[in-house]
Amino acid sequence: MTKKIAVLAGDGIGPEIVAEAVKVLNAFKQDGLDIELEYGLIGGAAYDETGSPLPDETLQMAKHADAILLGAVGGYKWESLDISVRPEKGLLGIRSQLNLFANLRPALLYPQLADASTLKPEVVAGLDLMIVRELTGGIYFGQPRGIRTLENGEKEGYNTLVYRESEINRIGRVAFDIARKRQSRVCSVDKANVLECTELWRETMTTLSKDYADVELSHMYVDNAAMQLVRAPKQFDVMVTTNMFGDILSDCASMLTGSIGMLPSASLDENGKGMYEPIHGSAPDIAGQNIANPLATILSAAMMLRYTLDQPAFADRIEKAVSKVLDQGLRTADIFSAGTTRVTTAEMGDAVVAAL
Ligand code: NAD
Repeated sequence: MTKKIAVLAGDGIGPEIVAEAVKVLNAFKQDGLDIELEYGLIGGAAYDETGSPLPDETLQMAKHADAILLGAVGGYKWESLDISVRPEKGLLGIRSQLNLFANLRPALLYPQLADASTLKPEVVAGLDLMIVRELTGGIYFGQPRGIRTLENGEKEGYNTLVYRESEINRIGRVAFDIARKRQSRVCSVDKANVLECTELWRETMTTLSKDYADVELSHMYVDNAAMQLVRAPKQFDVMVTTNMFGDILSDCASMLTGSIGMLPSASLDENGKGMYEPIHGSAPDIAGQNIANPLATILSAAMMLRYTLDQPAFADRIEKAVSKVLDQGLRTADIFSAGTTRVTTAEMGDAVVAAL
């Protein structure tokens, strides 16, 4: 059956990088990939056209699609708008409206780019780690929350860390299922020695792991996990954790690879439907110049093929093609170094298509 993909290019470099990912997806049609692309507006571009950063038409398109490919939103032009209609509101809106509770952020370092990391090449070369972050619960959403004034006049800020077993099981299953497609190892990160909520997290993960006898489960306290990520990141396969711990650890992990233009992401709902996007923003400083790196978006399309469309062979072909163009020495400006060949956004996309 034909799979529908909603393509939301957004702002800044969004249209340039998404065009290259679309080239790659379209190249698979001749090999039997049955997809139909639909295009919608989001972010500043949508605001300019309709007065809303997430027009109902786009939301309906996203709801009815099998998967969503997103570029990026935002830019200087819209910074002074009221917060309710800023481009970023469109992105947050689509995430919550589609209940995309599982955020997958791979930190994958192509050996050819090991020099781009701030860590020693031998520590990071070949790094292939997946962080699975719970995205719609935990302390970022727990009630009660606020800032109150105590009887003595002093102010007190408070938030609530809360997870139900069902929420832990839901994100745990995502992590275990992904591990099965990788090296079958899950490390659950918590602070069970101090926080009761994550004591429940640990217990629930342990019980859940009985359904996944073929996957090895380990547990790690978050402070140790942060240290291990910079000490020996290659020890991890899949890490699963709460919203806030995942927020912090995934940023740390992404920087291990040194290049923001290389990293894809996925946000999934309960049925495996997902929104796929590069982790970077709309880079207004380089928009319209045909110099942005499209590889994070192209690799996001590979994640879409693997996790939502269940087409791992096509996903493998994209990832291998990216490795091949790097072997050929082709580099966009952000990853360019002496001895390599500098190419434009469109040339990089063409090179990936040729290497498929
Ligand atoms: P950014 O990620 O857009 O850019 C940071 C730096 O990285 C810039 O120097 C940029 O040129 C560079 N860069 C980013 N992607 C690149 C690529 N593919 N190739 C080469 N260089 C790249 O972050 P920012 O500057 O903080 O934010 C710019 C705008 O993007 C803001 O409006 C922000 O709100 C928005 N934003 C959107 C998203 C999203 O849509 N998911 C995420 C982060 C920021």
